[in-house]
Amino acid sequence: MINTETRILGILGFPLGHSLSPLMHNRALQSLGLNYVYVAFAVARHFLADAVKGLRGLGVAGVNVTVPFKEEILPYLDELSTEAQACQAVNVVKNCQGRLVGYNTDGPGFMAALTEAGVTPAGQRIVLLGAGGAARAVAYQLGRAGSQHITCVNRTRGKAEQLAEFITGQTGVPASAAGWDEEEVEKAVQAAGMLVNTTPVGMFPATREMPPVNPEWFHHELVVCDVIYNPAQTRLLLAARQRGLRTVDGVGMFVHQGALAFEIFTGCPAPVKLMREVVVGELAR
Ligand code: NAP
Repeated sequence: MINTETRILGILGFPLGHSLSPLMHNRALQSLGLNYVYVAFAVARHFLADAVKGLRGLGVAGVNVTVPFKEEILPYLDELSTEAQACQAVNVVKNCQGRLVGYNTDGPGFMAALTEAGVTPAGQRIVLLGAGGAARAVAYQLGRAGSQHITCVNRTRGKAEQLAEFITGQTGVPASAAGWDEEEVEKAVQAAGMLVNTTPVGMFPATREMPPVNPEWFHHELVVCDVIYNPAQTRLLLAARQRGLRTVDGVGMFVHQGALAFEIFTGCPAPVKLMREVVVGELAR
């Protein structure tokens, strides 16, 4: 029941057509009887500054931030968490009595999904596909978790180089860079304990696509992860599963980044099991 006490949460991005966040958060809020409503703020780029002022002015309790604003929103915020500061990207903003504090729960959400799957990156050699915002958030956490080495592979090689520098600079973990089709990618995959796709290649609706790694390179100890959550079983993960490998899909990361955001917004433990059921149910539809 919406009344004068109802607090507003939302997601800020553009476009937001397929976002599962409103459904996931509203069901979680309702299940705990919390008097909040979570709405979609699809904001055109040139209105970002006005939209952020509006959060303060209207006392919106908090927002998730998604494409294309995760980096662009930084100058408008008053404070950043350690992760957000390091990654220079924000996916959660909490309004603390007019002070807007930015957090990044993408990386911690990925790590929670790994923990849930019983996968430990410590001491592993890792191949990371992609060098965008998700890659930076994931790489920062993998570095801090004590991985042995990270090979960053990206279509635009220069960005892979920047990401490798970022990893070593922020976490001290050795990292190297490669372009999409370079021979060293095969060697890196063969020597790795984990392969993580952070590109959107294979995401709905282009579900037949797959990042250019050859499943014949996969050895039986390799854990293959994808941050894409729609579909949960990407072509990359299916190829790994056909070879009997362990896989971790992007649904866990999505649910856990949302659960961590929920806890930041409300101060209450998130109903993670319910949130997962809602997301899995909606994806199945
Ligand atoms: P981004 O900042 O735009 O970065 C995209 C990266 O993928 C770039 O490195 C880009 O390479 C590469 N890429 C894009 N299209 C490609 C193509 N056709 N072929 C080869 N490389 C391509 O995006 P992002 O924010 O990191 O998001 C990436 C993915 O992560 C999306 O699918 C998003 O839905 C997913 N994600 C999932 C979660 C979750 O909770 N599960 C959270 C965050 C993001 P270039 O540098 O060459 O352009």
